[in-house]
Amino acid sequence: MTQLPGITVTGASGRMGQMLIKGITAHPAARLVGCIERPGHAWIGQDIGLCMGGAAIGVTVTNDPLEAFAVSQAVIDFTAPSATVEFAALAAQARAVHVVGTTGLEPAHHAKLDLASHHAVIIQAGNMSLGVNLLTRLTQKVAAALDADWDIEIIEAHHRNKVDAPSGTALMLGQAAADGRNIDLATAKQSGRDGITGARKRGDIGFSAIRGGDIVGEHDVLFAADGERIILRHLATDRTIFVRGALKAALWGQTQKPGRYDMMDVLGI
Ligand code: NAP
Repeated sequence: MTQLPGITVTGASGRMGQMLIKGITAHPAARLVGCIERPGHAWIGQDIGLCMGGAAIGVTVTNDPLEAFAVSQAVIDFTAPSATVEFAALAAQARAVHVVGTTGLEPAHHAKLDLASHHAVIIQAGNMSLGVNLLTRLTQKVAAALDADWDIEIIEAHHRNKVDAPSGTALMLGQAAADGRNIDLATAKQSGRDGITGARKRGDIGFSAIRGGDIVGEHDVLFAADGERIILRHLATDRTIFVRGALKAALWGQTQKPGRYDMMDVLGI
């Protein structure tokens, strides 16, 4: 019998780390083989199941990524950019698929991921939700099919604690719309309307942000013309959507050649 792909989770104690561990242990086609935390973390040396307040599951938290990656077919990494680039080099050394959910990567980080991807599969996306990635592709296609008689507006809603606007996902959708129209988003972007703004400029891509309560994340892409409207909508109600996307990517990556991939590749869209 062939063994199920073994997966190591970095940042095991983090919000996403713990959700990933639950997702992997419940998944019928994957095994949890490693959990990584920083040196000095209180969980090091302990069973991850016990750390998370449940029963022992036989996987000990370590601060030795190379040892864990060596017995892993995939590494799922939702940590921080400085950690992610180090994990990328080690995962490449171990020839393990590296799924990167970490956000805030800058060009220098991407350059390091590019280097590591010569030796191993790296799948990276700022939003691992299958639905948002599909929405992004749909947005690009609809924007390409409709001319500038159709005004494009992106409306997003998030919880009261979110500190930035528009959301990264809204910007990703705006970029997809701009790509579909073959225009520059920086030039077309219109956000934060207030007061006497004047009439809407043809070809603009507008952004509006709603903040309140515990909204996980909602995104509408509105195409409005005279007499008709199309609204593409994604509603996120819990963070397990990112776990499902990351796990799908880890399994998909098992049969790919070394290189950089994103969730569009995973979805085949
Ligand atoms: P979190 O709760 O703060 O967890 C981050 C984890 O990473 C912690 O366990 C932290 O350990 C660890 N970590 C941070 N820096 C590290 C380093 N230098 N070395 C080793 N471990 C390090 O954050 P989160 O909400 O889980 O989010 C984590 C990342 O995923 C963020 O970048 C977030 O934006 C991103 N994210 C992406 C998606 C997506 O779909 N792509 C979805 C959700 C979140 P310590 O506690 O020791 O610092």
